[in-house]
Amino acid sequence: MIRLGEGGLMDNLRNDMAQILFEEDEIQARVHELGAQITKDYADKNLLVVGILKGAIVFLADLLRSIDLKLRLDFMAVSSYGDAVESSGVVRILKDLEQSLEGKDVLIVEDIVDSGLTLKYLVQNLSSRRPNSLRVCTFLSKPARRVTDVQVDYVGFEIPDQFVVGYGLDYAERYRNLPYIGVLKQELIEG
Ligand code: 5GP
Repeated sequence: MIRLGEGGLMDNLRNDMAQILFEEDEIQARVHELGAQITKDYADKNLLVVGILKGAIVFLADLLRSIDLKLRLDFMAVSSYGDAVESSGVVRILKDLEQSLEGKDVLIVEDIVDSGLTLKYLVQNLSSRRPNSLRVCTFLSKPARRVTDVQVDYVGFEIPDQFVVGYGLDYAERYRNLPYIGVLKQELIEG
């Protein structure tokens, strides 16, 4: 098998990183743990996974395949960041769900919880649609950046106050395809 990253095929992108926080193997192991936990917790439930576009797609694709249940899947897209690295706190729905939440055990899957403002809005919005239950799973969390109180039920990794890319997370729509999580070199961040 050809292993990307070891033979140089992904070195273009790796050269843009100041630091790697989590390598692919570590991520995969943690995602499998989360999937196993969710499988246990939702064994007798009516699970609907709600993926938040676009950042959560890579995490979601791996997580889904670690959940051994007859789940349903839907997507929402909200705007929070644009091309900047600071949250505005203003959340706009760009794409809404296709199915009703009534009677469903909804699990929101996010890429990262930073200030918590996006998630707070999502939780309020989805709770009003009368789900049976509502929980949150995020790949990353930056507890030091939280400006609002919001409950997160499953967390892949907690990280310090650093802007990260990879595994679905972008900078100006780039770097989502990295199989690891890294911190960009400062000179590549505008402003
Ligand atoms: P919050 O509303 O919690 O401040 O921000 C949530 C959104 O901001 C995330 O879904 C993500 O799109 C973006 N975000 C927050 N921190 C980071 C980061 O370190 N890297 C990237 N690429 N996006 C981030």
